[in-house]
Formats: sequence, structure tokens, C-alpha cells
Amino acid sequence: MRLAYTVTPSGCHEAMKRPGNRGYPQVFSHGTMMNAHRAVWIDAHGPLAPGIVVRHKCDNKRCIRLDHLEPGTHADNMRDAVERGRVVRGEKTASARLTAAQVLEIRKSTERQVALAARYGVNQATISLLRSGRTWSHLNSLVPPAQAANTGRPRTALRSGVTITHVGRPSPRVLAAGVRVVVRKEKAR
Ligand SMILES: [Zn+2]
Repeated sequence: MRLAYTVTPSGCHEAMKRPGNRGYPQVFSHGTMMNAHRAVWIDAHGPLAPGIVVRHKCDNKRCIRLDHLEPGTHADNMRDAVERGRVVRGEKTASARLTAAQVLEIRKSTERQVALAARYGVNQATISLLRSGRTWSHLNSLVPPAQAANTGRPRTALRSGVTITHVGRPSPRVLAAGVRVVVRKEKAR
């Protein structure tokens, strides 16, 4: 297989292909689309046993240099990712603007999202996600994520028995549809 690449200062051969599939350049090889580094490995060493992946010793997903590659398992990859700091959590993530302490404060607070968002300088979605435990989930054992009851949002019970949670008032369209809307404010825990 011939594949154009550029050489980086660290000696990696980066395939000049648009990265697809989670940052791995793709090529058509052996009758199918596959990650370029995997195709290069198979070309040189033959087929891989089931469950075996081709790993980057250099941690560069675009690299196709044979001696930067080695076979291994997915578990090896995950262990490496943690050791090399590619898997980070909470305030160590690049996008984090809150500290763990602030997240705990927010989860304990009964204030409305809009007020918290303004105070902490983040958007409301950030508050919503961390309150519900979808982000900062590693803190869930310290302060359990909020239930809809204490997020300060009104909850709307529909005739059908379905409860919807929404931000703000029911839309005119919902009201016009003749849906009986019951807005309850529940006590914070
Ligand atoms: Zn490399």
C-alpha cells in the first residue's frame, strides 16, 4: 500500500488523509475501509487475531510509521490512555471552568439555573448537566445529583400522566393545545 505522509519533528509519519473515525485516517485496504495504521501493520505482518488492535507507541493517531506501532488489546489502549493523561476528568478537562468544590456548591444550591449560571460564569446547560449528574459524575457519591424536584424548574404534569420538565413557562402552543398544565414547585431537599 502506498500512502503519502508527512514526517513530524518527533519522527512520526502522519498519513496525509483526512482523519475520520475518531481521529484515525482511513484507507481502503484488504477490501474494506479501515484505520490507516492498522492497514499498514497488516500489510507488513499479516492478518491480526480477533480482538487484537494495532496501537500507537507514539500516541499519535495519524502516525503510520511501522516501528511506532504494536499489536495489543483494547484494554491495553484504555490503560495507556489513563496513564498518558488522555482520559481526564472534572476540572482537569480543557473545557472545565468550574472546580469540584463549585460543582458541589451548585448541587447543594436550590437557586435557579439562570442565577447560578450568571454567578459562576457558565451557561445554563452546564449547570443543568452537572446537577443531573451527567457531567462530573465522579462526584455523584459525594453529593447526589439533583432530581428535577430541586432544580428550581417547574414540572408540568400532562393529562396523559406524562411529566415533562422544562425551563420557563409552558409555551403558548402547549397551552393552546388544551393541555391541562399543573406547575408544581417542590421543596428542595
Ligand atoms: Zn509515530
